[in-house]
Amino acid sequence: MVLQDLGKRINAAVTDLTRAPTMSEKAFDGMIKEICNALMEADVNIRLVGTLRKAIKSKVKFGELAPHANKRRIIQQAVFEALVDIVNPHEKAWQPKKAKSNVIMFVGLQGAGKTTTCTKLAIYYKARGFKVCLVCADTFRAGAFDQLKQNATKAGIPYYGSLTQTNPVTVASDGVAKFKKERFEIIIVDTSGRHQQENALFAEMVEIQAAVQPQQTVMVLDASIGQAAEAQSRAFKETADFGAIIITKTDGAAAGGGAISAVAATHTPIIFIGTGEHQSDFESFKPESFVKRLLGMGDMSALMEKIQMNNGDQKPTMKNLAEGKFSVRDMRDQIANVSKMGPLSKLAGMMPGGMGGLMQGMDDEEGSMKMKRMIYICDSMTEKELDSDGKIFTEQPARMTRVARGSGTSVREVEELLSQQQMMAGMAKKMKGMGAAGQKGAPGA
Ligand code: GDP
Repeated sequence: MVLQDLGKRINAAVTDLTRAPTMSEKAFDGMIKEICNALMEADVNIRLVGTLRKAIKSKVKFGELAPHANKRRIIQQAVFEALVDIVNPHEKAWQPKKAKSNVIMFVGLQGAGKTTTCTKLAIYYKARGFKVCLVCADTFRAGAFDQLKQNATKAGIPYYGSLTQTNPVTVASDGVAKFKKERFEIIIVDTSGRHQQENALFAEMVEIQAAVQPQQTVMVLDASIGQAAEAQSRAFKETADFGAIIITKTDGAAAGGGAISAVAATHTPIIFIGTGEHQSDFESFKPESFVKRLLGMGDMSALMEKIQMNNGDQKPTMKNLAEGKFSVRDMRDQIANVSKMGPLSKLAGMMPGGMGGLMQGMDDEEGSMKMKRMIYICDSMTEKELDSDGKIFTEQPARMTRVARGSGTSVREVEELLSQQQMMAGMAKKMKGMGAAGQKGAPGA
């Protein structure tokens, strides 16, 4: 079951129960059973499913709930927390330091997605102002260097590799030495994989590790192997001690939930997940955000991250957000960015309640048409209106009529856009209060 379907099924189980006019303990047990079945179908380890079952039961204590307690909220909260707990590695990962050479080495089996993920990680750090580069030490797979070269060129990232040198240790150390001299801050080294875990692969990994002395070794793991991820990561850990894991192909893998929870259970930090073949299909992994997304609760920080991966410069909006503001112009810029980012269905889960809701039930074509109309609306506004906090429209409703007429839309659509912007502005204000550009805590009731 792909993650999206898993989320939908869990959500449906909770919603069915909490929407029922009367909520019996039997129905509550039924909901837990349905959630457990869904998790097992996603190849989540039976022991973890058992832990989750107990956690939900003991958090809710159905039989002891006061008659007027908000059961819906208590149950939603318990399910949310129990799910966060099974994907939480409870370990913090290493962070690169600015103005230093940070060497990051990738290991993993062939086909796991190492080469693709190297570039994704490089883009991620580049967007955060690091001076990044790539070294291709995969001399085993024909075409690996070409693939890295193509990806790196597309992303405008300097790279190093050799078509003639067949010793991966030499290529790795030459590349790292060159880039260190040039004061690159993040040097990502891609290594060879094999189809299976075998001695030659492990020996090579150890040699490269000794030669380039990475600050961080990252293991790349394909989500489709499900709970077997635990054994595979243990085997790699025994030889090339890595500090973090990236799980790829969580978009298509039926067993994605199994892989993530199995790795989390080994207390190894999962730093990112790959969500598709495109360079921007990459997200930093935070247990709470992940579960929010899984359950379709929207996650602003993931959305902002994705926008940054695609567009790099988000300074004006970021500056406003830091000050707890979100103008009509910020709304316009974000819609324009989102509409450039490909299928809406991929983004819907990240959008905060209202915006995701607006797009719900629409296919990608309808959704993108809706976004276009929103841009037309903004383009019919004056500079003063765009830079305002949006209240100018409620104070002088005639402005809405003018904008609707100018953009060939309806007043209702203008109102809808402004109410989204107001919601985002409210969220920006709250985020400033929390001192972080992200949502915290559990779902609303
Ligand atoms: P390597 O042998 O480990 O270097 O693997 P590659 O980077 O060549 O990736 C193998 C295949 O997996 C390629 O076709 C990639 O496009 C694909 N791939 C990598 N990451 C993802 C992901 O997150 N989602 C999907 N759907 N495909 C991915």
